[in-house]
Amino acid sequence: MNDNISHPLKLFNSLTRKLEPFAPVHEGEARVYTCGPTVYNYPHIGNMRAYVFADLLGRTLSWKGFALKHVINITDVGHLTDDADEGEDKLEKAAAERAQSIWDIAKHYTEAYWNDIKSLNIRQPAHWSIATDYVPQMIEYAKGITEKHCYELDNGLYFDVSTVADYGSLARTATEDGEGRIETVEGKRNAADFAIWRKTAEGETRQMEWDSPWGKGAPGWHLECSVMSEALLGLPFDIHTGGIDHREIHHPNEIAQNQAHSGCDHSGAQIWMHNNFLIDRSQNKNGAKMSKSAGEFLRLQLLIDKGIHPLAYRLMCLQAHYRSELEFTWDNLQASLTRLKRIVMAFGQLTIKAEGTAEPVDHPRLIQIQDQFDAAISDDLNSAKCLPLLEDLLAQKKISASQRLMLAKKMDEIFGFDLMNLTRSDLRLRPKARTIAEAEIEQKLNLRQQAKADKDFTTADAIRDELTAQGVELMDGDPLRWEWSISI
Ligand code: AMP
Ligand code: ZN
Repeated sequence: MNDNISHPLKLFNSLTRKLEPFAPVHEGEARVYTCGPTVYNYPHIGNMRAYVFADLLGRTLSWKGFALKHVINITDVGHLTDDADEGEDKLEKAAAERAQSIWDIAKHYTEAYWNDIKSLNIRQPAHWSIATDYVPQMIEYAKGITEKHCYELDNGLYFDVSTVADYGSLARTATEDGEGRIETVEGKRNAADFAIWRKTAEGETRQMEWDSPWGKGAPGWHLECSVMSEALLGLPFDIHTGGIDHREIHHPNEIAQNQAHSGCDHSGAQIWMHNNFLIDRSQNKNGAKMSKSAGEFLRLQLLIDKGIHPLAYRLMCLQAHYRSELEFTWDNLQASLTRLKRIVMAFGQLTIKAEGTAEPVDHPRLIQIQDQFDAAISDDLNSAKCLPLLEDLLAQKKISASQRLMLAKKMDEIFGFDLMNLTRSDLRLRPKARTIAEAEIEQKLNLRQQAKADKDFTTADAIRDELTAQGVELMDGDPLRWEWSISI
């Protein structure tokens, strides 16, 4: 029997703006589609918050015993510089600016994104769907909805949003003003109408283009997700996720297409879920929208280069509710690292104490903690409430280590800290810019310890000064026993 199902899973549905019980379309299964990155640049850590959230959702569905089928797409064509159908294709623009092949750019940034996925211990989805692999299906799909729902303009095939029921209800905006979208495409019937196929203009050169009944061109970004989600998961599927910005344009447009293609008013997914933004407060107190151009580009590699283990960022995400804004500062990140280190140390001690035994969890206090944990994660993925329960469990020194270890491992299926493998030493600050090798620090520390044991304090102090001069701060008496650190 699965002990994780005593509390029914409830999720916040952006469509109804309410918590709803999760009831799968196919018994025992959970089919989830997550809007993936546009691979014209590195993802910033705000983007990665969207995937930590999708991973938490996937892990929770598995924890509840559902067979998870998760799809994340890679957008390598069609996403314009403005979500509301204006501007240039992000990938074409990057390729032109850097005089590089668009395919090389897509490959490079897809791999960089997959590295970040791995560093954050985000589980692999069942499918990574690459948009350019689905262009023939996109053309067929568009052909199927053209007659009733689309019209052609000089620059593309447009979707008429007035042909479907309740357009924009997800965003809570009306068709008429399309939440103030600027009408710059001449001939559009409604401000919110969007291109599902963009024709290559005469004289324009595109690296990526395909033949279609509407001329050479490329698919619209919104079309991609409708086509790939339906092709891989079938309609309706269970949950569609993305960042909160997608609630305004991208997802309402996907819904409109899903309605057109299926011929019914259903949005295509039972539940639409959106993570809130990560706000950058690392440079100024007022906060700024995460940006790939202004100031320090906050990508995961920057955190790693400053010496911070990427799972500290994972913990930082999980200690906030996914629907709350999260503020990024270096201090917050350091505090998350310290919290993770305490957990890792306690888990390590527990492993030693349990001596390889594996008792089933039956202690009443542990059963209570497990129940509270299940209640919290079932309550719209309240990971922030789950973390102190793990810490509480680790601190219950009087209860069987073996049972506590069993439960801690189980909880880690949700957190994904890889506690079985993550060591205290992995979490040490390791700035890339350091000038001294770790082995040398360790060697000097040993000499200093010997000097102290010999009561040769002059030598001990000299070694400390020598290390300080090389940027290494010794931390005698640190309760976390972090013997040294290098400031970032
Ligand atoms: P993009 O590559 O621009 O399509 O974005 C990838 C994902 O990141 C999408 O789900 C966005 O909604 C999400 N996203 C963008 N900016 C942020 C942010 N600052 N915080 C959290 N999620 C974001
Ligand atoms: Zn999408």
